[in-house]
Amino acid sequence: MEKTLVILKPGTLQRELVGEVISRFERKGLQICGMKMMQLTDEVLTEHYSHLAQRSFFQRIKDGMMITPVIVICLKGIDAIHIVHQMAGKTNGREAAQGTIRGDFSVSVQENIVHTSDSYETAEIEINRFFKPEEIFDFKQNNLSFIYANDEF
Ligand code: ADP
Repeated sequence: MEKTLVILKPGTLQRELVGEVISRFERKGLQICGMKMMQLTDEVLTEHYSHLAQRSFFQRIKDGMMITPVIVICLKGIDAIHIVHQMAGKTNGREAAQGTIRGDFSVSVQENIVHTSDSYETAEIEINRFFKPEEIFDFKQNNLSFIYANDEF
């Protein structure tokens, strides 16, 4: 089973959408195996958004992620990385498809509710960036045989 990282951005907390967004992941059948509230720092965001370091809005997106604490979540499931990234939708909330989290709850490029890992490599790096090993819990999901067929997991 794969694990992936989600960050509920400051706007999600301010707009009281935390329960709504987490509920979508739970209803999909993904298992929450780590979750905490944390205050991000410029240092960790510089690393996390290093692929955008040359962009004019680099400092602005980092500042936006530090306005309030965020909630970081580790989700687990078969193909969880792809599923969760698809559930988030396109970066720009105005273009994201209806039914996706960004499509349903955002109208902005920057203020787009969630961060989700976009590949197997980034998921592993990002989980390690935001969680200590002991904060990830590999406990048994009791309803697994109702979420997957027996030969799927
Ligand atoms: P994604 O979050 O969809 O993986 P990126 O990694 O390209 O997208 O960008 C990281 C975050 O930076 C986005 O989620 C968004 O909040 C912000 N961002 C990206 N592009 C822009 C832009 N052109 N203007 C403002 N903010 C942006």
